[in-house]
Amino acid sequence: MTTPLLGQMMDVPLTVSSLLAHAARHFGSTEIVSRRIEGDLHRYTYRDCEQRAKQLAQALIALGVEPGERVATLAWNGYRHLEAYYGTTGFGAVCHTINPRLFPDQIAYIINHADDAYVLFDTTFAPLVDVLAPQCPKVRGWIALADTAHLPAMQTPALSYETLVGAQDGDYEWPAIDERQASYLCYTSGTTGNPKGALYSHRSTVLHAFGASLPDAMGLSARDAVLPVVPMFHVNAWGIPHAAPLTGAKLVFPGKDLDGKSLYELMESERVTYSAGVPTVWLGLLNYMREAGVKFSSLQRTVIGGSACPPAMLRTFEDDYGVQVIHAWGMTEMSPLGTLSKLTWEQSQRPLAEQRALLEKQGHVMYGVDMKIVGEDGRELPWDGVAFGDLHVRGPWVIDRYFRKDDSPLADGWFPTGDVATIDRDSFLHITDRSKDVIKSGGEWISSIDLENVAIAHPAVAEAACIACAHPRWTERPLLVVVKRAGFEVTREALLAFYEGKVAKWWIPDDVAFVDELPHTATGKLQKLKLRDIFRDHVLPSALADEANCPLTRGNPAA
Ligand code: ADP
Repeated sequence: MTTPLLGQMMDVPLTVSSLLAHAARHFGSTEIVSRRIEGDLHRYTYRDCEQRAKQLAQALIALGVEPGERVATLAWNGYRHLEAYYGTTGFGAVCHTINPRLFPDQIAYIINHADDAYVLFDTTFAPLVDVLAPQCPKVRGWIALADTAHLPAMQTPALSYETLVGAQDGDYEWPAIDERQASYLCYTSGTTGNPKGALYSHRSTVLHAFGASLPDAMGLSARDAVLPVVPMFHVNAWGIPHAAPLTGAKLVFPGKDLDGKSLYELMESERVTYSAGVPTVWLGLLNYMREAGVKFSSLQRTVIGGSACPPAMLRTFEDDYGVQVIHAWGMTEMSPLGTLSKLTWEQSQRPLAEQRALLEKQGHVMYGVDMKIVGEDGRELPWDGVAFGDLHVRGPWVIDRYFRKDDSPLADGWFPTGDVATIDRDSFLHITDRSKDVIKSGGEWISSIDLENVAIAHPAVAEAACIACAHPRWTERPLLVVVKRAGFEVTREALLAFYEGKVAKWWIPDDVAFVDELPHTATGKLQKLKLRDIFRDHVLPSALADEANCPLTRGNPAA
């Protein structure tokens, strides 16, 4: 056998620190603007950020943190959180971002499971830290992201971040570390069972940042001012804290104020061109803008993902405000980006209605991720836009296994996402449900997301969720749960009639329940598990009705 001929290029490891080093050196004066917990607007540059990240690295090393150890954050989007991203990973420690909206017991579980050495926290979370500290005895120190003047009164002895960082000179070279070393630890929100940890590597983080930056992915640029509404504690804010320094984009961090008015004002004052967040956040922003009668003067594009973007929201952004929506799908286990909705040249020549129908889907896969849909027998299903199946993925930024879990989650080398989807001839992915949320009517599947999207398009509907309700004949039938828009009225009958002609007759929900609010998870998604629990004893009128009123007569093909 002949020896393979190796390439003769520099073997430069792909490290997270190289992203910030690049921005500091080549976009040194580009700004990072943050709404602080202290109330003011803080501004500095990528150059300043790298300097302080180095000071933080020195401070953590002085505290005895070793490469490979986990340092956690409980923080909003802001410049100190960004320093924590780079000041930990930069010397080989692992940045463990914690979602503060989880239940304290879950957070304590996560901190203990991750074996965090230190926890950096925004002062908003001081009361939470007081609850957590007694349950997390192995944490060596709690560091408040504040100067001594802003240290909150609390039972837990806390160090001041500014004092620690201020004691260092920043004269520090990022070490060249093995690109396969761990970079970030992100836990899934654990809607069922305990949260599970996804442990990224430097290599996967940098490759994901490269992929995210491509024009047909997020498409960030040095001409953008980016405001990530998606939290840095939720899957690395979808990679924006890495893609922004890679491309040289200006960063604008909103801190803790995520209401429509605060976001709108910050976007306007900082001339933000690009944003990203989950649909619930945009709901708040769009409501504020409608009521205040204001328009965007600089925003051009926004990524919407984390849960399905209702087509009605997409229309509002595009038609009323001239903002391009990039619908994206991904998950914690995928760092998180998988697909984004952008058209090819050929697709953009088609009739407008066809283009829009494509853009409403979750989009085309990025280079680096491969996907397939499989049936119950594990066999791959056709990409015809009709066949529903379990979505499996693989790629260099997809997990191989969970942190500190021995059993492999993979099936034949693919990661089963738990999502149910179709893929069409254009290779566009359409997520129809999470597998546990699918409504199984007489052996056929009904997409709860599609039914919610129809309801949301009704002017009197503020928010809608569709869940499976027990049915003696069909096993399950859809129940629509609706929050009405303030000042609007709509009846059950009018809402059900609204479905006529928009979905197959047998998909039309059997009943509507009106509620004041819907339960959400810590990441702003509909909490269907809880909703199913609330409506466990709900009796559908169709379940009581006689044979003539049964869904059978409405033509359920599964009959
Ligand atoms: P968790 O909510 O468990 O923390 P993630 O935040 O990683 O997990 O969410 C991943 C899941 O969110 C996906 O598996 C999918 O069900 C859902 N999701 C993400 N983006 C979209 C989207 N654009 N459309 C529909 N569902 C989405």
